[in-house]
Formats: sequence, structure tokens, C-alpha cells
Amino acid sequence: MYDVQEIRKDFPILAREVNGKPLVYLDNGASAQKPRAVIDAVTRGYAEEYANVHRGLHYLSNLATEKYEGVREIIARFLGAPDPEEIVYTTGTTMGINLVAYGWAMEHLKAGDEILLSVMEHHANIVPWHFLRERMGVVLKWVDVDETGALDPQKVIDAIGPKTKLLAITQMSNVLGTVVDVKTICHAAREKGVPVLVDGSQAAVHMPVNVAEIGCDFYAITGHKLYGPSASGAIWIAKNRMAEMRPFMGGGDMIREVSKDEVTYNDPPMKFEAGTPGIVQQIGLGVALDYMMGVGMDRIAAHEASLRDYAQSRLTGLNWLQVQGHAPGKGAIFSFTMDGAGHAHDISTILDKKGVAVRAGHHCAGPLMDHLGVTATCRASFAMYNTVEEVDALVDALELAHDLFG
Ligand code: PLP
Repeated sequence: MYDVQEIRKDFPILAREVNGKPLVYLDNGASAQKPRAVIDAVTRGYAEEYANVHRGLHYLSNLATEKYEGVREIIARFLGAPDPEEIVYTTGTTMGINLVAYGWAMEHLKAGDEILLSVMEHHANIVPWHFLRERMGVVLKWVDVDETGALDPQKVIDAIGPKTKLLAITQMSNVLGTVVDVKTICHAAREKGVPVLVDGSQAAVHMPVNVAEIGCDFYAITGHKLYGPSASGAIWIAKNRMAEMRPFMGGGDMIREVSKDEVTYNDPPMKFEAGTPGIVQQIGLGVALDYMMGVGMDRIAAHEASLRDYAQSRLTGLNWLQVQGHAPGKGAIFSFTMDGAGHAHDISTILDKKGVAVRAGHHCAGPLMDHLGVTATCRASFAMYNTVEEVDALVDALELAHDLFG
């Protein structure tokens, strides 16, 4: 564990007030706040070190290139990836998954082939597969979670059939906080020769990740949830899968030579990175991951587990609040509805008046909302800098909301 007050000092925005109240930021599942080190790196990136990367033969271009390319090694270390060249830069998980859909799945799947998904996937890990369903006749198969919100790995493994050509599974639900045993799933899938894409958008923020141990083929992360700049991110792609992929977007940087008649491509990972990238964003992501590793992923996980336990005990004490998802070992993410409250938005508006920032809506998880039989929930999602006092502030604000709804 660590001194959370010391951590909080690194995040300037946490000192501000909202609606005359101290900010209680519990919308981390949507996007996390940024430490001073990231803010400074972004400022420095533009104020002192900015130029386009790769193409220059001048000092600033070389400096920006060195810093930008250096982030591959940081991401590889963060993900336990054997080789930085397996890291493809993206603008976030959405782009990473679309790259796999267009670059790998469109090349290897045909009509009637199946993609296996869990019912708690984010739209980013659903809609690209619907594209393949619409355009190619690929079939989407779904595995349900149980009444606690847990996903039984054996159920996923049993659902793999002769037509299954890809599994696309989240490691942590952005709605329920359920943590999925992706390692067991990946090892079984590998024995059956089926590749697995893991959506690490939420999991990588809250626990140590090691893609080599997990045994997946693709692992997508998104920088803005990892305390980094928005529009930064990466996908780890196993070397053998990279070799099977075609580029998704075409343009500068991803080519070696272009003539009127033909084009030859750069080596991976640049083969999959077309156009001028988010240079400063990606440099900021490197600083964010260094910051997280400096604090220690195990210590972040331990702090958040204690917050989860405390929040769970306080929220389950409110008998007019329905918390969705009680899977053992879940993360510190709580989605709920409230007796008497018309819509989740009404709850979040009242909480906001108390300075408590939560999210309300379907959380880009339509199939899960259908499965739960709700149209929307309120979601409080915790991060490394949250405190037990903030759990209390959430509960106080919920009690006020409940009083108001009668
Ligand atoms: N997957 C999960 C589980 C998420 O929570 C999110 C973001 O909320 C995404 C994918 C999409 O991430 P992004 O919008 O950064 O691409």
C-alpha cells in the first residue's frame, strides 16, 4: 500500500472544487486524471521538443523521434511483452481492435466463421465484429455471465467450436468490474488453435499485466484511462500474428516505396501506423506508464482492493440501492440503480451538485444492459488516487439523492 495523500499531490486537478464542493472524481472508468509528470511532459513536448517524427534530418525531429520511439520499450515493459517491435501505436483501444478486425480478421475469416464474445464487452469490442457480420457473413456468438456477473472460463472454452476463428474478450468489465480469467481461456484457446484478442482497457489500469503469461495474441490498451493523454494507446500483437496481417490504414510512414504501379511496406510495427501520429500524446503515455510502474502495479491493486472492499460494505448497506455485479475479485467499479429514481442521469446530476463525478448511461455495453434488464445505470469507478473518505462522500450524496426521490 502507499500514502494516498502523497499520490494525490501528483494530480493537480484533484485539489479543485466543483459546484463549491471538493472534487470527488469517480469517473475513472471513462477517463483518468493526469499526474503533473504527464502534464509537464506534454507541455515540454510542445514548448521545447516538437517536430514531426521519422522524416527529419534535423535536431528537433531526431529528438522527438527518439522520445516517441522510446515509448515502445516502456509499453512493452508495462505489458510484459517480449519485444518492443510487437507494440503498435494507436489512438486507443477502439483503433487497436479495428486494426485487428480489418488487418487480421478480414484476411482470415469467411462467411459462417464464428467470433466468440462475452456479453459484457464494450461496444469497441463489438461493433468492429458486427462490421464483419454485415460485410462478410461472419457469425457472432455470445457467452453470458452468471448472476454475480462472473464469466466462467470453462463456459467460454466449451463454447469454442470448429467454426470459432477468434475470441474477443475483455479482461475487466467497465460496468460490473468483473475480472476475467483470460489466462485460462487463452491457454485452452491456443490448444485449439484459436487466437484471442484481449481488451485490456480497464484491466491494465488496475493490475499487473503480462501478455506472455496470459498467452493471448492481441492485447489492446488505451492511454487516457492509464493516466496518459487522450488519443494515445497501443496494441500488443504477437509476432506470428503480425506476420499474418495486412495494413489497415494506408499513407505516409507505413510504406517503404511508392510508385505509380506498386507499393512496398515498412516493417512492422510501422507497417500498421499510417500518417503523422499523436507524437506528444504517445510521449505522455510513456511518462504515465513510468509513473504507474514507479508507484508499483501491485501496490495500486492492493490500494484499490481495499477501496473496493470498503465501498462494497458501504453500498450494500443501502437497501434502496441495487448494485450490479458481485463477482469475487472484481475491481473497484460499481454500477447501480436506485429505488424511486427515474433515470440514472437524475442520480448523477444530484451527485454532481455535491462535487461527486460519476457516469450514467449504458456505458457502451448494450448487450450487457439487455442481459441485466436495465437501460442505464450510474457508475462509480475508482482509481489509484481515490480515498475511503471519497467513498463516504459518495454514500452521503447517494443518501441525499434517495431522500430527494422520496
Ligand atoms: N473497452 C473497454 C472495456 C472500455 O471501458 C473502453 C472505454 O470506455 C473501451 C474499450 C474503448 O476505449 P477507447 O474509447 O479509449 O478507445
